[in-house]
Amino acid sequence: LLSIRGVRKTFGANVVLDGFDLDVEQGECVVLIGASGSGKSTLLRCVNLLETVDDGVIELDGTDITDPRADADRIRSGIGIVFQSYNLFPHLTVLDNVTLAPIRVHGVRRDVARAQALEMLDRVGLVEKAGAKPDELSGGQQQRAAIARALVNSPKLMLLDEVTSALDPELVGEVLDLLRELKADGITMLICTHEMSFAREVADKVCFLHHGRPLEVGPPGQVLADPKEPRTREFLSRII
Ligand code: ATP
Ligand code: MG
Repeated sequence: LLSIRGVRKTFGANVVLDGFDLDVEQGECVVLIGASGSGKSTLLRCVNLLETVDDGVIELDGTDITDPRADADRIRSGIGIVFQSYNLFPHLTVLDNVTLAPIRVHGVRRDVARAQALEMLDRVGLVEKAGAKPDELSGGQQQRAAIARALVNSPKLMLLDEVTSALDPELVGEVLDLLRELKADGITMLICTHEMSFAREVADKVCFLHHGRPLEVGPPGQVLADPKEPRTREFLSRII
């Protein structure tokens, strides 16, 4: 579904992605791990066209999305992205947060958008909070609302960047449970996380980034449990 080939991204003299290759197949959950500054968020931002790549090709469903002539809005509407900070609009209700893009950007009729949003809020267990404002929700609920908002256009691919990092420990589980359900529903996901037990359990593939390169890629049973690369081993020994 997603093919990343030779992607290079620099910020001035800082080479953040250095000839990056990675594939994400339909229905797969691929987890990116690596030290702070290794380029995980930048990779997700390049896939969502929040950054332009200096070199290389990213194909989504056979379309080269790095082609300058590509329709960035259309491509982005096929990708759901959720960040560490939930980025919900504070003055809008949960329901209005979820219906905003479908109505404003995609021209979906208000009643249709509401029905879809309520269905999505039901899926994330928040239908009874549809009329609440974000600040009336717990962090875990806000993050689930942000995930519902990202899911509502039926994206081909979900990008999730440290979506549990800002949460109190007791709220992490409910968001991880939701990601497990999405995986079971066949949603294709590319995730940055520090939750190694989640990666071990849910990931089809784990990719260890080191200085902007995919140093070790494989099933979690290999990369996390039996890493070949000394740098992977060193990273894992530091975080657990
Ligand atoms: P973390 O685990 O801390 O989130 P990360 O792996 O997500 O780290 P990135 O956020 O991708 O790392 O950053 C990689 C490098 O790119 C860092 O050196 C960072 O300073 C640099 N960088 C990221 N965004 C920009 C930007 N907009 N302008 C300049 N430098 C940037
Ligand atoms: Mg990051």
